[in-house]
Parts: sequence; structure tokens; C-alpha cells
Amino acid sequence: MMRLAERLQRLGTENAFEVLAEVNKLMAQGRHIVSFAIGEPDFNTPENIKEAAVAALRRNETHYGPSAGLPVLRQAIAAEVSRTRGIPVSPDEVVVVPGGKPVIFHGLLALADPGDEVLYPNPGFPIYESVIRFVGATPVPIPLREEREFSLDPDEVARLITPRTKLIILNSPHNPTGGVIPPGDLAAVAELARAHDLWVLSDEIYSRILFEGEFHSIASLPGMKERTVILDGFSKTYAMTGWRLGYGVMPAELATWVARLETNCESCTCTFTQLAGVEALTGEQSGPAAMVEEFRARRDLIVDGLNSIRGVKCLKPHGAFYVFPNVTEACRNLGLPNAKALQEKLLYEGNVAVLPRSAFGQRNRDESEEYVRLSYATSRENIIEGLKRIKAILEA
Ligand code: PLP
Repeated sequence: MMRLAERLQRLGTENAFEVLAEVNKLMAQGRHIVSFAIGEPDFNTPENIKEAAVAALRRNETHYGPSAGLPVLRQAIAAEVSRTRGIPVSPDEVVVVPGGKPVIFHGLLALADPGDEVLYPNPGFPIYESVIRFVGATPVPIPLREEREFSLDPDEVARLITPRTKLIILNSPHNPTGGVIPPGDLAAVAELARAHDLWVLSDEIYSRILFEGEFHSIASLPGMKERTVILDGFSKTYAMTGWRLGYGVMPAELATWVARLETNCESCTCTFTQLAGVEALTGEQSGPAAMVEEFRARRDLIVDGLNSIRGVKCLKPHGAFYVFPNVTEACRNLGLPNAKALQEKLLYEGNVAVLPRSAFGQRNRDESEEYVRLSYATSRENIIEGLKRIKAILEA
């Protein structure tokens, strides 16, 4: 037995990577798989952003930078967040980190102690629950239900709050459902956070991938900026997942601590990547806008296609690039016990990769329906072919 630290027992992972590994294995064996499993834009990073990185490299911008991020990027992010959230944000409230994920890790390290309770969306991005447990805090799932278009119920959030609650994690637009929290419900959660003196970690990584209405951040509401950490970044908006560039916006005092975690962990985020980030925020914006329009067309295509398959019921999500169809009846028709079994059947017999609900946390206590997640960050041709394969399996 290797003598490892006990805390590793509390560290979770993203089960999506297991399905992705299986897909890659099957493809290496020569199978053609249509994959709806990947959570990243299939577009390439816009040229102007790549050129900015190349130019920075040529200027030898390859040295250490400040742990909180280069001043020029913190300034650009502060301006962007001030504009899009309608609140004054100064550069000392911004910490640049390698991707959106470190905001979750560093944010929870900085805010949650053992014994604290942290509310998080379920189904949800699996890293929330993993890191909550890892820092020794207690995860308390907020059930997201289909009847509320996978948004939270503020009354239920109120019932989950105890004297030990420290932080609420929100994610809108939401992975894995594409759900968006309506402004009235955000206001109700803000009221609870103020009344119970709670922090909010607002994961807004999909804020620009929105198909209807304006984006609303809880940080914009009165008395909320001082208790909110906004997570945002470049991965999804600018198709920059591999660059590793994201940021947190938070009260300046907390920002100095998160920057100190950064000093202890990474020293700083890659310098020339940050300079590309400045170009992303301040340069030509037609790339991201075109991407959102394409996602909208694909959303309509995949939702209509799924709803025409026997046993599948799919809502039309308002944001992100995921659909989360209800496949309860499909499982029943095929005599399958759950969505995991359906995911396996689709992969091994249908050559289509989706993710089961279980990749996004354990079923809530009163949850009896079955769901899978499909990412439509793939071409329309793939979507059409994938839908054909799903239909063939489900209507056989
Ligand atoms: N938050 C959510 C809800 C996500 O879906 C993801 C990525 O899939 C992230 C955060 C992490 O983004 P990044 O790749 O920038 O670390």
C-alpha cells in the first residue's frame, strides 16, 4: 500500500474524462464515433488572439509576471466586467488564473473551512462537489429540476441554509443543462445571501453564450458585489480551452489572498497567454458573436431532433452549449435500468457518445427521472448523423 495523504480520499474528478478516454480507445480501434461528450467549442481560437500571443513571444514576453496577473490584463478585465455587469470593478479586485477552474479551487480554499456547508447546483459541474469535499467542507446539493427549466428554487435554497452555511455556488448559464436563473430568482438568492451573511461563487463562464435576453449576474444586485466571487474566463467565449486563462472578480482583500495562493501554486499565469487575453477582450468581437449564432442554430437543430425521437423529451435551453434531455421513457422502452446503461448502449451499439446524468453528481433524493447530457459543440453534420444513430437505437 502506498502511503498517500488521507485527503486524497476526498478528491473527486470529472467522470466525463472516463467516457472521453473510452471514445478515444474506440476511435483508435477504427470505430467512427459521433461525440456529444466534449464540453469545449469546436471552433478554433480567433486569428487576432493567436497573433497577439505570437507577437508577445517575439517580444520575449516570456518571463514571470505578478501573481495576480499582468496590470494591463487586470485593467482590461475590470473594464469588461464593469461594462457587462454594470458595477464598478477596479483592477485590484481581479485575479488572473490559469482557467476558470482555479477560481473554484482557490476560492474554496480561501473561503470554506472544515465544518462549513457549501450549497452547490446538482446536477452540476462535478468539480464543485469535489473541491468542497477536498477542503473539508460539507457539500449541500441544490436540486435543479426539469419543471423549473433546471433553475434553482429559491424557497428550497432558503430551506437548505443552516447556521453553518458559508457559501452558495451558482452557475448560470448552466453546465450540464443549459439552464439560466431568471432575474427574479437571482434577486431572491441575493436576499438570502445578505440576510444570512453568505458568500456567493457565481460561475459565469458561459455568460456570453446566451440565446435569449440579457445576461444577469448576482454581483450586480445591491449589496452583492462585496460578497460575490465572479468566475469567468476565455475558454468558452473565445474558444481558448487549451490556453488556460480565466479570472476571478472579488473584493480586493480576498483578491490579495487568492493571489497569494497563486504565488504558492503557480507563481503566475503564462505571460504571453495573458497578452493574448488583452487582445481577446479589447480586439475584434465578431468571432465570439458568430460562434453564439452558430450555437443557436445547432441548439434548435438538436432540440427538434431529440424531441422527434421516441422516448426522449428535451427542453430548449437558453444558454451554454448543452442539452439535457429526459430519457426516462427511452430507458423504459429498452428495458434499461438507468441513463448510464443507455449511455453505454448508445456508445457501444450506436457509436454515439453522450454523458449520463451520473457524471454530474449523485441523483437528488426525490429525483426519479433519467437524463443524459449532449454537448452540441460539434458540427451540424455531426449533429444530424448523431441524431440518426440515436433514433436507430431508441426506435429499434
Ligand atoms: N465552470 C463550468 C461550469 C464549466 O463547465 C467549466 C468547463 O467545462 C469550467 C468552469 C472550467 O473552465 P476552464 O476550462 O476555463 O477551467
